[in-house]
Amino acid sequence: MNYISVAIDGPAGAGKSSVSKAVAKSLGYTYIDTGAMYRAAALFAIENGIDIKNEREKLINRLDEVKIDIRYTDEGQHVFLAGRDVSERIRKEDVSVGASDVAVIPEVREKLVELQRNMAEKDNVVMDGRDICSHVLPDAQVKVFLTASAEARAKRRYDQLCEKGMECDFEKIKADMEYRDKNDSERAVCPLRKAEDAVLVDTTDLTFEQSVEKIKELIKNVL
Ligand code: C5P
Repeated sequence: MNYISVAIDGPAGAGKSSVSKAVAKSLGYTYIDTGAMYRAAALFAIENGIDIKNEREKLINRLDEVKIDIRYTDEGQHVFLAGRDVSERIRKEDVSVGASDVAVIPEVREKLVELQRNMAEKDNVVMDGRDICSHVLPDAQVKVFLTASAEARAKRRYDQLCEKGMECDFEKIKADMEYRDKNDSERAVCPLRKAEDAVLVDTTDLTFEQSVEKIKELIKNVL
């Protein structure tokens, strides 16, 4: 049986995860948040005292211990690292920055991409990330590059973290986001960029509902 894959890439804070989640829910597809996997790998390094930027080899040598498991409940996706639910912890800013540093390591990417492809083989999926259209699922039936202005993205991330009662310093969030944008776009392996065959959706002036509708429309057009 051939499953449908919807691939959604874009920079941090463009609304990828909330939009993808809503689209998946309304179509009965499985939502796969690949950023959460890079975050879990970063958390492993942080918790084991591995300096990601300067001790790459240490992390590569222990990759077998980075056991990431994604499980689904009624409330949505839960991320487990070696059997422990880390879904909340991985949303903190230290892990956001760490994830971007971990994501430049080819061995880490290889391991996580395999996991992502395996998941897409078993179900209709909406998968979001940075390299999904071009690398992870090049045969996806629908490909979207979801973006928004840097200011709008920082504001959304700020609102999101404040709402959850987490640390929310706007200037710091904006600076971290700029760091990640640069890191993600300039890395040698699978840098963040719009795939040629992806449809550009700019959500700066769209409401959440409009963004969801736009993507559902793109899906409807190919089914
Ligand atoms: O999407 P999210 O902000 O959770 O991703 C965290 C980091 O993981 C990104 O900044 C990026 O460096 C990395 N990432 C990636 N490829 C993906 C998904 C995330 O490199 N497919």
